[in-house]
Amino acid sequence: MSTETPLSPTARTRVRRLAERGMTDRADLYAVLDAGLLCHLGVLSDGEPRVLPTAYGRIGDTLYLHGSTANRTMLAADGQPVCVTVTHLDGMVCARSVFHHSMNYRSAMVYGTARIISDDSERLAALRVIVENLIPGRWDAARAPNRKELAATAVLALPLAEASVKIRTGPASDEPEDYDLDVWAGVVPARLEFGAAEPDAELPAGIAVPEHILQLNGGTSGR
Ligand SMILES: Cc1cc2nc3c(=O)[nH]c(=O)nc-3n(C[C@H](O)[C@H](O)[C@H](O)COP(=O)(O)OP(=O)(O)OC[C@H]3O[C@@H](n4cnc5c(N)ncnc54)[C@H](O)[C@@H]3O)c2cc1C
Repeated sequence: MSTETPLSPTARTRVRRLAERGMTDRADLYAVLDAGLLCHLGVLSDGEPRVLPTAYGRIGDTLYLHGSTANRTMLAADGQPVCVTVTHLDGMVCARSVFHHSMNYRSAMVYGTARIISDDSERLAALRVIVENLIPGRWDAARAPNRKELAATAVLALPLAEASVKIRTGPASDEPEDYDLDVWAGVVPARLEFGAAEPDAELPAGIAVPEHILQLNGGTSGR
């Protein structure tokens, strides 16, 4: 599927509440996913709902998650219907009334049947994209996983076939009669920010902080 293919709402992905915040462009889905570092994987495990926060990466129209082969929640997802969410908090929206306080955000919900990947080349590609989604440039800079490490890692794939995106932007929406109240209203932007890199205490002398690490906080500190 290309970015041109719209997200076709299904019975469960049609945004009903504040439907104008629902996006139908596949490009919006990719943008929300590619800007994120963490997702939440929701799955029924032993009959109980579990929501697992975890890293992820995307290749085309497949989302990849990884975990230990002892990760019971991830294993429980194999062949099962799951829901994965990615959320970005973009701002606190302060209204004049408590009721109309809100948040600016971009979020995605992906539904589908997950499967544990057994093909080694797909597993490696998935692990690479998960690492690169967290720290671009890191995969090639670090030692590659060995056979034992690969054997201890489960990789889960989820097709991006059924998904919804919801985005809120802008100021608060107060009741007309509240706009004259003596209450501050406005938006406080929010964003995720990395600090300066802190070199490991065991690092041999002479290993400088690499550029891809400096880039995490804009390349300005940690040198
Ligand atoms: C950071 C953040 C904070 C929020 N805080 C609150 C809160 O405190 N209270 C509250 O009620 N709501 C909050 N929301 C909105 C919440 O995510 C739901 O959109 C909203 O509650 C409506 O839920 P519903 O099940 O009635 O939606 P419906 O419109 O009935 O959901 C139908 C379908 O729309 C899609 N959908 C719904 N919401 C989202 C979403 N956020 N992202 C992507 N797809 C979606 C899903 O596919 C879902 O199955 C928040 C959202 C974010 C991202």
